[in-house]
Amino acid sequence: MAAGTASVRDASDAGDHKIHVLWINAGLSCDGDSVALTSATQPSIEDIARGVLPGLPEVVFHWPLLDYECGPAGGRDDFLRWFFAAGDDELDAPFMLVVEGSIPNEKIKSEGYWAAFGNDPDTGDPIPTSDWVERLAPKALSVVAAGTCAAYGGIHAMRGNPTGAMGVADLLGWDFRTPAGMPIVNVPGCPTQPDNLSETILYLLYQATGQAPMIPLDERLRPRWLFGTTVHEACHRAAYYDQEEFAEDYNSQKCLVKIGCWGTAAKCNVPKRGWINGVGGCPNVGGICIACTMPGFPDRFMPFMDEDEPPGAHVSSRPDGAYRAMIRRLRAVTVDR
Ligand code: SF4
Ligand code: SF4
Repeated sequence: MAAGTASVRDASDAGDHKIHVLWINAGLSCDGDSVALTSATQPSIEDIARGVLPGLPEVVFHWPLLDYECGPAGGRDDFLRWFFAAGDDELDAPFMLVVEGSIPNEKIKSEGYWAAFGNDPDTGDPIPTSDWVERLAPKALSVVAAGTCAAYGGIHAMRGNPTGAMGVADLLGWDFRTPAGMPIVNVPGCPTQPDNLSETILYLLYQATGQAPMIPLDERLRPRWLFGTTVHEACHRAAYYDQEEFAEDYNSQKCLVKIGCWGTAAKCNVPKRGWINGVGGCPNVGGICIACTMPGFPDRFMPFMDEDEPPGAHVSSRPDGAYRAMIRRLRAVTVDR
């Protein structure tokens, strides 16, 4: 598997068909997106790292989940040397930057740091994660925000937010572009659906090697083909909704809207795609949708699991008339924010 120092090459080996993936999960994060990615199947992360898919460039991952290197090497940690080299324009090939976890605001306190990644070799001080993102993003081929925390701030950015946690686009600017003209690519989810993330990385690798056009993104920088529909539009229980057959507890196979499902207002393909290898997918298997892919999650969609329906669900789930049409229009506002 191409990972870390196992794939160190001299600059003379460099070619157009090699890409480094620098993965920072040193923000505020549970590492759930990394863990989720290990169960991707379409494609699997092993397929990408081993280059078994036609046309793939050589991909060298620098990702804590794969890299086992640590300890000093030439004064810098083996794992971190790639990140320093990228910042100094000394990598032997272009790189994709993947950020997992929200980015705390280091400017809102007088001392210390919220989150850091390695130490400055000159001063010995921890290097804040926000500094790494600001240093590397302008040199990257593409920047991927993996998971809702990196995309929109997620759980750490909920009401109160003492660390000033934010998503990558909030830090760099929503109109940020890499030197290649690429916007940030958000792949939200708490955690991200495994194949959504691996497929997006695959797409960007093909785009980077001229085999795919510019990735189509929506106004929230999500891949359109993955986040173009609501949970409700693909849910196995949608027929029950239309028939006004609603679950009253979590043991029912009927529509879950009366006990808190937000599927009508969340853009996500999980009911269609399943969770692992086509199996699972929140409401398909009895879990209410808590809108974990959406900007403003979790505050906008709380409380969860209190067996209470989302606002408007009482009217929108009735088949009659004008009120239902009105709620649909209001729901569209929620979906698009
Ligand atoms: S369970 Fe949720 S997503 Fe499925 S039909 Fe009911 S409201 Fe829609
Ligand atoms: S169905 Fe809802 S809770 Fe499940 S992953 Fe999608 S947005 Fe999140």
